[in-house]
Amino acid sequence: MKKSTNQNAFKIICDIIGHKYVVSKQVTSHVKEYTCKCCKKQLTTNSNGDLTELTPTFKEINSILEDIYTRRMVRIK
Ligand SMILES: [Zn+2]
Repeated sequence: MKKSTNQNAFKIICDIIGHKYVVSKQVTSHVKEYTCKCCKKQLTTNSNGDLTELTPTFKEINSILEDIYTRRMVRIK
């Protein structure tokens, strides 16, 4: 019952050669969510424009941002 073995192996690879992040979600024109193709680690853009780990708090902030952004886009159209 060791399902996380592969995940850990990928993590070690990422630690050595670096993560392979791809944009998994475009929240607003400035804020994006990234997922590592290798170990599935998630990052997001914070209010300073830097990349930070996608914690549950940031997920919540992003979903609010996305909601506001989507509504504004609808209004412009
Ligand atoms: Zn990784």
